[in-house]
Amino acid sequence: MKTARNSSNKPYECKQPWPEEIFVQCGGHGLVIDSKAPEGSYTTAFFEAFPKAPSCFLRGEGATVEEAEEKCWNKYQKVLTCDHEMERRDRTDGYAYCKHCSYASTVFAPLTKCCKCNTPTAYTQDYRGKIYCKKHKRFKSKDPNPPRFFDDSLKRTPRKYKKLLKKAATKKFREGGILGKVKYQISVIGDKKFFCGDKVLTLMFKRQELMLIGRFKPKREGDEFSD
Ligand SMILES: [Zn+2]
Ligand SMILES: [Zn+2]
Repeated sequence: MKTARNSSNKPYECKQPWPEEIFVQCGGHGLVIDSKAPEGSYTTAFFEAFPKAPSCFLRGEGATVEEAEEKCWNKYQKVLTCDHEMERRDRTDGYAYCKHCSYASTVFAPLTKCCKCNTPTAYTQDYRGKIYCKKHKRFKSKDPNPPRFFDDSLKRTPRKYKKLLKKAATKKFREGGILGKVKYQISVIGDKKFFCGDKVLTLMFKRQELMLIGRFKPKREGDEFSD
């Protein structure tokens, strides 16, 4: 049976018959905020698979890695047999989500067009939001006040909000006795993830972010939130 890369322990031996070409990884202590719990409860494990045909990202979460793997496997089985019906939701770059299963991929032409040649593209955009295709990217205007980081995710999340979110996530880690540097990442499917040691805090919905911030909001200026 296949083994999965495990973020916290020795490689995990898969219980499901994953094909060899699918990369899988898991974590025994994935911290997840439950969307149904008022301010976030934890489950303790996650399992992720990256099938190639069709190319997508699947994730299962549960109390144990086994449970997370089973949920991920069930999603994979559904993806394989689903008669996909894709919808863009709020995206304009051609990336779309199946209405019935967990499949998501770039399957449509972008709705945005190159400002030079009018070809549908989402190749790149400048600081004013003007779109350029690959051929015309050389005309892209430079931001007179470039951001300090070259991470696209920071541009999509206003810096002040992101900072607040990171501080709240840090406090939640500390509350759980988890120390160390907290790192931030936005996944391909738009989840916001915070990493601290071998723990992962995943925020999948705006509501979770707001609840997290609300709960760990500083009581007054400079209180608690100062580094
Ligand atoms: Zn589907
Ligand atoms: Zn163009």
